[in-house]
Amino acid sequence: MSQTIDKVKEALSNLEIITDPNQITKLSLDYYHFSPILQQQLQDKRGDIVIRPTTEEEIVQVAQTCVKYKVPLTVRGAGTGNYGQCIPLEGGVILDMTKMNQILWLEQGVACVEPGVKMAAFDKLARQTGWELRMAPSTYRSATIGGFIGGGSVGMGSITYGQLRDRGNLQALRVITLEDEPCLIELRGDEVQKVNHAYGTNGIITQLEIPLAPTYPWAEIIVIFDDFMQAARFGQGLGESDGIVKKLITVHAAPICRYLHQLKDYLPENKHAAIVMVSEYDLEAFRDLVYEYNGEISYFKTAEEASHRTSLLEYTWNHTTLHARSVDPTITYLQTFYFTLDKVEHFYEHFGDEVMIHLEFIKFQGKVIPAGLQLFHFTTEERVNEIIRYHEENGAGIANPHTYLLEGGGRKTIDSPQLNFKKEVDPYGLMNPGKMKINN
Ligand code: FAD
Repeated sequence: MSQTIDKVKEALSNLEIITDPNQITKLSLDYYHFSPILQQQLQDKRGDIVIRPTTEEEIVQVAQTCVKYKVPLTVRGAGTGNYGQCIPLEGGVILDMTKMNQILWLEQGVACVEPGVKMAAFDKLARQTGWELRMAPSTYRSATIGGFIGGGSVGMGSITYGQLRDRGNLQALRVITLEDEPCLIELRGDEVQKVNHAYGTNGIITQLEIPLAPTYPWAEIIVIFDDFMQAARFGQGLGESDGIVKKLITVHAAPICRYLHQLKDYLPENKHAAIVMVSEYDLEAFRDLVYEYNGEISYFKTAEEASHRTSLLEYTWNHTTLHARSVDPTITYLQTFYFTLDKVEHFYEHFGDEVMIHLEFIKFQGKVIPAGLQLFHFTTEERVNEIIRYHEENGAGIANPHTYLLEGGGRKTIDSPQLNFKKEVDPYGLMNPGKMKINN
């Protein structure tokens, strides 16, 4: 391989190439270590070189060179994925997209960006025009828009706009192929699904057209409860309150609150907590809802106040896992669609303290449902699989975060348009090889 890599370096010597081993290590990995199973499987995986393109022309040059020498190519945004999505299994070139970071245009309700644009940086600009991203992960400050499309799925905003895969949440994109003569293809409408959440196996995304949401001043609030199911019912109730505009509804069972040290003044021992973002225009109705569910507001910041401190977003979604693991590294997690509160209650009672429930409410096929990123102490892989199996046998959907395979996550299968597109755009199987089971 090393002679081939030397030829690749020579062919791309006009581009920014990183060869320092420490940098390569850093740019080969992501947050795969949230899973002890992935930690074992992926810790030694490294690319051979990193290339940082700045234009589509440079990317075509990289694609052509990788095809010529049959060298694997793995695309990377900010590397915040948590199942090793951007970790190269077979070495080769890492294509770091963070310098493809131009906002090409920003209009009413839609924008066109390069993939390396950071999500929070985009929103800062877009909000000046009255618009913002429809949804974003809790890694919003560092994640790139291209990386979210390539490897993410939900986040703040999903209570209103559903999942990234829902029709309309991505309008168009451009990809460069890994054919003998790389092409630039534009996909619009339903065709974007060929590349959406494909872990960079189906072409290099170079531009995206994304729909936007009207922006609101988002108040950040914590409401505490004596009873977990009451907190969960409050979350569902807020989700279904059509007259209250909201962006985030998280519910943590009491044991989880002890891992959120920075919020300890607002999370008394044994209380269960809802962390929410609600439009400031709807606060009177929101307070009435809190009263109806016997909650108590323990933290309240206006949008202006919230903008001067760490957003509560960073105590939700997978940031909860991050905080818990920083206190106790034996903790790991699951990603679950509970679908109903009855199922939440069933699993809460069944697992007791073993599985600490963290709910995120989202819109799913037009309905508000509880999803979850539960925490538990890792013991063995067998126990992880038993916990997953019990959830699945009892009607929950699991997007398994303990596998790097695309089919192992939320979707379970790769649909035929995505597979056919893969054959067309990556005939030599060079893009992030090993991530599609079907391709192994
Ligand atoms: P990367 O991790 O760099 O890449 C992700 C995937 O996209 C890789 O497979 C990569 O090959 C591919 N890719 C990147 N750029 C391109 C491109 N230009 N063309 C083709 N493929 C490309 N995810 C959520 O969905 N919701 C959350 O709330 C959430 N919270 C998180 C919290 C923590 C603490 C952590 C560690 C992770 C979380 N994630 C979440 C996962 C991840 O942060 C997000 O999905 C994020 O958007 C990924 O962006 P990135 O730029 O880091 O992408």
